Amino acid sequence: MTDYSGVLRELVDGTWREPNTGRRYDIGINDITIRDSLEGAEAQLVAAQHKGQKLTVVSDPYTHSAVGERVYKALKADGFAVDEYIWKTPSCSDEGVAHIRDATRHCEARIAVGSGTVTDTVKYASFLDKRPYSVFATSPMNAYTTATASVSSGGFKRSITCTGAKGVFFDLSVLSACPPRLISAAFADVICRTTAQVDWLMGHILFDTPYMQTPYTLLAYDEADMISNAKRMLSGDLDALGMLTRISAIMGLGTRFSSTTHSGSMAEHMISHYIDMFADDKHPRTSHGEQVGVSTITMSQLHNQVLTLDAPPHFKATRIPVDWINNNFTEQMANNMLEQTRTKALNNEQAKALNRRLETEWDTIRHRLMDCMLPYEELHTAMAAAGCQLTATDLNLDTDFYREAVQGARFIRNRFSMLDVVDDSTGLDSFIATMPV
Ligand SMILES: [Zn+2]
Repeated sequence: MTDYSGVLRELVDGTWREPNTGRRYDIGINDITIRDSLEGAEAQLVAAQHKGQKLTVVSDPYTHSAVGERVYKALKADGFAVDEYIWKTPSCSDEGVAHIRDATRHCEARIAVGSGTVTDTVKYASFLDKRPYSVFATSPMNAYTTATASVSSGGFKRSITCTGAKGVFFDLSVLSACPPRLISAAFADVICRTTAQVDWLMGHILFDTPYMQTPYTLLAYDEADMISNAKRMLSGDLDALGMLTRISAIMGLGTRFSSTTHSGSMAEHMISHYIDMFADDKHPRTSHGEQVGVSTITMSQLHNQVLTLDAPPHFKATRIPVDWINNNFTEQMANNMLEQTRTKALNNEQAKALNRRLETEWDTIRHRLMDCMLPYEELHTAMAAAGCQLTATDLNLDTDFYREAVQGARFIRNRFSMLDVVDDSTGLDSFIATMPV
């Protein structure tokens, strides 16, 4: 048996120290175990977190046959008071959460078996019920360890901060059987570190907004290896998959260190959220990670273009397209977009002050940002090797709609990004007209 938990073991034990500050962290999760197989160890792992509790194993038909049934039988054979609920039509929505709370109301703790939908539903339902839960993963994604659940209510997606799982268990032989698209999507949702970090750090440098290095210090342990092993992840190689799983779990924990999702979710995620919210029938139901892969490539190209220029961007006051927003979105959405945008919009004085500062500091600032940025070519090559979709066309997404998403994404959230820099200086039109779609 090989254990791939690595630095995660120190994090759950509370022994890991941030190298620059010496600080220790309580990540709020007791156990994160990644092994090539967990067969035969299920009851022991669960017992360490849920001894004496009445359990319900929650899965969907796919994850039930992948590993849910095995977990249920192992717990039953070990003498746990346990039943199972196989959710035929999972959806992480207000209705779905209410459904799971009701269907499993008699249990004292839930064991989620699944990927994002089942896990986030159990996470939020358990938070509302103030009950513990643990997770057996079925794909290598970061949702298992994040502090937030992504829940849709009335068509809007909300990120809700929840209590962490007691235990998160990854059986790599189960993960290696998941559809290759999920592995590629997980790779994309981790490699987006590069664009998220540049955007987040840039906001910090320009406006002194909060920023935290710790999530990136942890991700840096594995990122270079992950890139050089991108191709092996798709072939069922457990070492490569173990590395991707570990780095995905670390990416998820970033939200716990900083109490926000900024470390892994900036403009590339705003483009993806725009697609989720507004694509309607132009949306072929691509997954979160697939969308983030394509938008990460777009943002990386924009970062590389701006930061390799010797001349600083020249800011003007932000022009908020109030009519476009009011005419194209529901009243509630339009009001929300205007509110989000106004909190980061620059007025004339602020734009001038920023320009004065950049005259002398641009070179230092851009090199500081370039130091944490993956070169565009390297990113593109790694993502292609990991089987990621690279353009809107690959996603089967209407290309005009994708251009609109890149143009409109900056208005849906108050997070300052390179989309704001370019739109408030030269405008985004020429980039959008020439970017690969
Ligand atoms: Zn993501």
